[in-house]
Amino acid sequence: MAGGSWFFSEPQPAVTGLVDLTALAWPAVEATHRGLRLAATCTLAELAALDRTGWAAEPLFRECCRALLGSFKVWNVATVGGNLCLALPAGPMAALAIALDGSLEIWRADGTLDNVDAVDLIVGPGETALARGDVLRAIDLPARALSGTTASRKASLRPLGRSAAFVVGRRDIDGRFTIVVTAATAHPYRFRFDVLPTRAGLRAALETIPAWHDDPHGSPDWRRAITLRLAEEIRVELAPDPVPA
Ligand SMILES: Cc1cc2nc3c(=O)[nH]c(=O)nc-3n(C[C@H](O)[C@H](O)[C@H](O)COP(=O)(O)OP(=O)(O)OC[C@H]3O[C@@H](n4cnc5c(N)ncnc54)[C@H](O)[C@@H]3O)c2cc1C
Repeated sequence: MAGGSWFFSEPQPAVTGLVDLTALAWPAVEATHRGLRLAATCTLAELAALDRTGWAAEPLFRECCRALLGSFKVWNVATVGGNLCLALPAGPMAALAIALDGSLEIWRADGTLDNVDAVDLIVGPGETALARGDVLRAIDLPARALSGTTASRKASLRPLGRSAAFVVGRRDIDGRFTIVVTAATAHPYRFRFDVLPTRAGLRAALETIPAWHDDPHGSPDWRRAITLRLAEEIRVELAPDPVPA
């Protein structure tokens, strides 16, 4: 367990032992020669408080933390890694890690070490590619992605409701464009473009998503429609002047 904000929120009858990852005292955030390294145990409060890192994408840290509408108690214990590994569709740390091309350092239960693209971690609601006993150690965010300009949009049925769609975009210095869809789908989707897509091009890419998530936080049809709208808003926000049609 990490922050325990989900772990202690419901009975865990199958659990026979606990390892407290926060006791390993990993530094929450480290500047590396390749960019930034977030420890899996970095709390949302620590992430949201980051400022003057010098990276253009820094505002996205706060936007993604705010997408999780927990109380200050949750914010102060919930961790980036716990949010990723819980793999809820509305997990905003997945959107952050994927939009910034995060690479996940995983300590395998057999003692080996692995690096996995963040987009490959979550395979369904509550399901990850981790095997029993694997530990997520850190999320490495590369300089190229951190130098990009980012934007995010969230939709939910109620003002303080869980995200029904959470969409993040990034435009790189060289004009490449990335869009990530979470919360509206059972697992995250990432789309890359060599240049800013047209409205129709972006829509065509998003229309390849085969199924939209269905739960009390929103119907599939509405999630599809709102995701297309939010993604278009992001495209326009990140576009150079004038916005391509
Ligand atoms: C009021 C409230 C609102 C919430 N809103 C949201 C929301 O909007 N979106 C959302 O996604 N969640 C939400 N949650 C659920 C949860 O609090 C968060 O997902 C939180 O980020 C989980 O982090 P944690 O560190 O507390 O994880 P924990 O509860 O400690 O662990 C969660 C799971 O991940 C595993 N785990 C944790 N860290 C690691 C690691 N480093 N390696 C491998 N496995 C690990 C644990 O074994 C456990 O199965 C909410 C919870 C509350 C109480």
